[in-house]
Amino acid sequence: MSAALHILQSVFGYAQFRSPQDEVIETLMSDRDALVVMPTGGGKSLCYQIPALLRPGAGIVISPLIALMQDQVAALHQAGVRAAALHSGLDAQTVRNIEQKFIAGEFDLLYVAPERLVTERMLDLLSRARLALFAIDEAHCVSQWGHDFRPEYLQLSILAQRFPAIPRIALTATADAPTRAEILHRLQLHDPITFLCGFDRPNIRYRITQDQGKAREQLLQFINDEHPGDTGIVYCLSRKRVEEIAAWLTAQGLVALPYHAGLTPEMRKHHQTRFVNEDSIVIVATIAFGMGIDKPNVRFVAHLNLPKSIEAYYQETGRAGRDGLPADAWLSYGLNDVITLRQWVEASSAEPRHKQIERQKLDAMLGLCELTTCRRQALLAYFGDQLAAPCGNCDTCLEPPATWDATLPAQKVLSCALRTGQRFGAVYLIEILRGAESERIKNNRHHQLSTFGVGKDLEATVWRSVIRQLIARGFLGVDADLHGALYVTQLAKPLLRSEQSLALRHDTARNVKSRTGARGKIVFTHQHEQLLWDALRGRRRALAEAQGVPPYAIFHDATLAEIVVKRPQNLAELARIPGIGEHKLMHFGKAVLEILRDYPATQKSL
Ligand code: ADP
Ligand code: ZN
Repeated sequence: MSAALHILQSVFGYAQFRSPQDEVIETLMSDRDALVVMPTGGGKSLCYQIPALLRPGAGIVISPLIALMQDQVAALHQAGVRAAALHSGLDAQTVRNIEQKFIAGEFDLLYVAPERLVTERMLDLLSRARLALFAIDEAHCVSQWGHDFRPEYLQLSILAQRFPAIPRIALTATADAPTRAEILHRLQLHDPITFLCGFDRPNIRYRITQDQGKAREQLLQFINDEHPGDTGIVYCLSRKRVEEIAAWLTAQGLVALPYHAGLTPEMRKHHQTRFVNEDSIVIVATIAFGMGIDKPNVRFVAHLNLPKSIEAYYQETGRAGRDGLPADAWLSYGLNDVITLRQWVEASSAEPRHKQIERQKLDAMLGLCELTTCRRQALLAYFGDQLAAPCGNCDTCLEPPATWDATLPAQKVLSCALRTGQRFGAVYLIEILRGAESERIKNNRHHQLSTFGVGKDLEATVWRSVIRQLIARGFLGVDADLHGALYVTQLAKPLLRSEQSLALRHDTARNVKSRTGARGKIVFTHQHEQLLWDALRGRRRALAEAQGVPPYAIFHDATLAEIVVKRPQNLAELARIPGIGEHKLMHFGKAVLEILRDYPATQKSL
């Protein structure tokens, strides 16, 4: 194992392996297949990069997105590793150059998109070169039930047939037990060892707030209070909403850029590049954005809509805080989200089994939202992970929500739905309950119902909250054919007969405030440190621009912060800073030491 450790230190500049990186590397070194499920930021890349360097031949990395490949290759070049990527963004001549060098054994790592990999041309090329291993990144894309399904991934089993002697490693950050089984089966991994790391991302604080019609104001307040000047992602359901929110945040003085499939490719690329290379950018996006975004210092991920499953939620929020520093996952959702998604699942043309799975996934997501106990425990439990005690870093832990006995209001809603023939939506039911004088009610003679006006004592927002929770818990169903009409489910019978009582969450309009103020910022106590930090970041930026790579490919924030604190005096001391291997030391060492000399610590006596 000492050879692997040597590479870790000399090439990547890290002192020791994180568990279970060394075991994974050993597995591949002994020609065995592996499946690695490790949370984002856990250090998956080194699991295949180091064996690719140690074994003769090139490691082939299958990665679904060009941006991700380019990022990895850029970072590898900075560490002095011979790597390249083959993708559709290259011209024919460049492709041929890379192919020739590959055959000549000039690469240790070659990144390839899945659709290209399975072409005859590529397979032929592979058969003519020496291969160290295959790494299949984002392996959950092989799952047809998953949210990131990529049909090309299904063809990857061809590797098992064509190259049985080359070890393969599949990697993913999110896979529940069925997805793991599907990965093993579809990729035909041979006698694999599975490495299942804890899913917990302790640095992410989970918060789910109820939208009471002011979601975007709540979002703005959250950003202004806790993340001024930070980089973040805001997810919205539709393109229209993305445009609207981006424009609104911009009008409020933030740098907010839209991203969705309706923009031109140039525009998308431009916004993504700005997001990757600059700080203080808020990207407002549909879920089209994010896979393959490796930016380590995303400080918050906000959702203005409900994700369709816990997997999707966990993966999207997982883009925050890859660097391990504190980060926020913030979600706002309301009655409309619940109705839209329920309707969407019911209306889906999928076969019954598939639809049932979608329904269960949505149920689990809704359950998480309405939870009154620790969110993290529930999240981890969903993935089969146990967390012994409440986490203390989610909204329900920080500010346990109050509950109230809503048995009677619930009965009123349910019987109102029954008496009106289960043909009406939430807005209309609330009008009846609150005794509204509307034409529609008169025409339907619903003002003569016994439930007419029995709910005057509660505000419409409270009724919305009650209905939302009744839907989320499955007491009310949403009829897809009748434009969101609510019907009473079997589950509600005991409740209607008063054989069961019902405690519901008290919604609060305000954000559960973080107690630590702005979070995840690197804060220095002395002014000279701040000056040095700014100077280092300025130089990093210039170096990155000169080479056309993102700043974090040169040094991570954590590396720069360590330099500020430790103030290394010479190359030997600089080499001990985490994240500085031999190549970076050689290329940037002098520049860093010069800056350190230009920005000395405070003069002792003045
Ligand atoms: P993942 O692909 O699992 O999201 P990465 O491979 O991008 O994670 O690694 C996340 C971060 O952790 C990177 O900055 C990487 O350099 C760092 N890292 C990985 N392994 C180690 C290690 N053994 N010691 C210190 N830092 C590490
Ligand atoms: Zn908690």
